[in-house]
Amino acid sequence: MKSSKTRIIIIGGGFAGVSCAKTLRRELAPDEAEIVLFNRENQLVFSPLLAEVVGSSINPLDVIVPLRQLLPKVFCRAEEVKDVHFLASQIEYESEDCRLCHMPYDHLVIACGSSANLHAVPGLADYSFPLKNVADAAALRSQILEKMEKAEVCPDPKRRRWHLTFIVVGGGYTGVEVAGEINDLIRSSARYYRNFSAQDALVRLIHAGDQILPEVSSRLRQFARTKLELRGINVMLRAYVSEILSDGVTLKDGRSIKGGTVVSTIGVSPTPLMEHLKAVKEKGWLVTDPDMRLPGHANAWAIGDCALIVNAYDGRKSPPTDQFGERQGQQCAYNIVRRLKGYGTKPFSYRPIGQLCSIGGHSAVAELYGRALAGFVAWFVWRGVYLFKLPTWTRRFQVGFDWAMLLLFPRDLSHLSNRESERVSHAHYQCGDLIFREGEPRTEFYVIEHGEVEVVRATVEQPSHETVTVLGPGSFFGERSLLSNGLRLSTARARTSVEVLVMGKNTFTQLSPSLGCFRDALAQTLINRAARCQNTEANPNNEKFPGGEGGHSSVSAGIREECDSRRLSPKQLKH
Ligand SMILES: Cc1cc2nc3c(=O)[nH]c(=O)nc-3n(C[C@H](O)[C@H](O)[C@H](O)COP(=O)(O)OP(=O)(O)OC[C@H]3O[C@@H](n4cnc5c(N)ncnc54)[C@H](O)[C@@H]3O)c2cc1C
Repeated sequence: MKSSKTRIIIIGGGFAGVSCAKTLRRELAPDEAEIVLFNRENQLVFSPLLAEVVGSSINPLDVIVPLRQLLPKVFCRAEEVKDVHFLASQIEYESEDCRLCHMPYDHLVIACGSSANLHAVPGLADYSFPLKNVADAAALRSQILEKMEKAEVCPDPKRRRWHLTFIVVGGGYTGVEVAGEINDLIRSSARYYRNFSAQDALVRLIHAGDQILPEVSSRLRQFARTKLELRGINVMLRAYVSEILSDGVTLKDGRSIKGGTVVSTIGVSPTPLMEHLKAVKEKGWLVTDPDMRLPGHANAWAIGDCALIVNAYDGRKSPPTDQFGERQGQQCAYNIVRRLKGYGTKPFSYRPIGQLCSIGGHSAVAELYGRALAGFVAWFVWRGVYLFKLPTWTRRFQVGFDWAMLLLFPRDLSHLSNRESERVSHAHYQCGDLIFREGEPRTEFYVIEHGEVEVVRATVEQPSHETVTVLGPGSFFGERSLLSNGLRLSTARARTSVEVLVMGKNTFTQLSPSLGCFRDALAQTLINRAARCQNTEANPNNEKFPGGEGGHSSVSAGIREECDSRRLSPKQLKH
């Protein structure tokens, strides 16, 4: 039920949504209007400082701000909006008990930002680290520290070098900032490791264009590139990444660049909500009228990264930056208030302040009101601007304190292990890639979505050996991980390009008793495999067995060991 007060719903608690909510609350008294802000998470993410989290310069919690503390007089709901019914002036959202509910509105502001495009390059979703939210930043920081720990104990210099090679794809602001931060983290921390030095580590920045940082003047671009190279970063220009693999990237010209960690800063795509919206769009982004209203809708507006808004100041499309998002949020709020009070709206018009980008090593490049700055002074300005742009005094003190600590103490090298957490994920393997090796601990279960996998008996020194079976789409393998805690008895290798669904052991164990059909299929497979094994024992010369779970399979001595280890264990699944 809608109350008699005007209800304004904002979807998205990022820079644009928050600035809109703040301005509306300032302009409209609580008894005049109810402001409801839906955001998937309960916090605003201050993305300009995410690279600092990656480089361990600041604490992950310092870049997020709880929305309800930031907007005390706004009804903040940590829920996901699923659809908008423009004709009925209602939003559809998923409630805490997973039901679809509706809420009517008088005005709606869509400020749902963008998502990382995980399909820009094959393998990107599976093997690269995106940097879009605080969880991404914390995961990448952990990965870097974990790679340094692995390098410390790795006896093989070539593999050690691989662990210590970090590939950053994309030479825009985010790519440059994150490459600079990773480089600073490794170089300032190498003295705590005895098995490698700073010279053993390499950060590669791969960019498709002629110059990094296309947004700034060519003099600043050149300055940034020279500075990055002086700090040991390898800048590769005119290099198109065509595929991301488990051990590095492949370029369009066929070159293969090896590295243990790939960070992707390329490509954004509209959020899932945007796909549902019946509104005018261009390449998935919401097109707006000059006053930020959706064309043909009197009470629906779009702002921030999700919208294509022409800036009346210079007639150009607004870039996807927090600076523009904030201003659009403010202007949109004023336009809503003007409409509620019966006045005409104003087009979005904003003179941009400029650009700032930190490049590591206490250096930055900046263009402020047409003036170019580079080096330490620009870095100092960069820090000052972002410190004061943080939305609360609590966060300003915390970030300021973290930065002050860095002047006196080294960067923190501890990281939280994710050993206990598990998820279901997708993975992509190229023909010939090893999925797991004989002798490794059993931790995961796999379901083939596309392609073929061969199970071979092998040793680490000689990975290719005799084929035990070949599995195709719909088949699964690795299921013994739920039956025993031993080591893998065989090696699984991609026979073609393969897509698999991967489940951790705990997820699998929780899922199998409750999903009856899944459990039965598993039990049947284990019985079939055990029968094949007995058949082999009874008729050792009969090498070939038709059917099987993957369409065709051949049996060798190797399978006997496989079957032995799971003898009639399907019963275990029934419990
Ligand atoms: C690593 C990084 C560094 C950056 N550095 C800079 C910089 O230095 N300077 C600069 O100006 N810009 C920078 N940007 C860009 C800037 O962060 C964005 O332009 C800005 O965040 C856009 O604000 P927004 O409000 O439109 O979207 P966002 O900040 O992305 O907020 C959108 C919010 O909507 C929520 N949401 C989405 N769909 C739904 C739904 N269906 N239901 C409920 N909630 C939903 C999301 O969870 C999110 O919280 C950076 C971005 C990144 C990723």
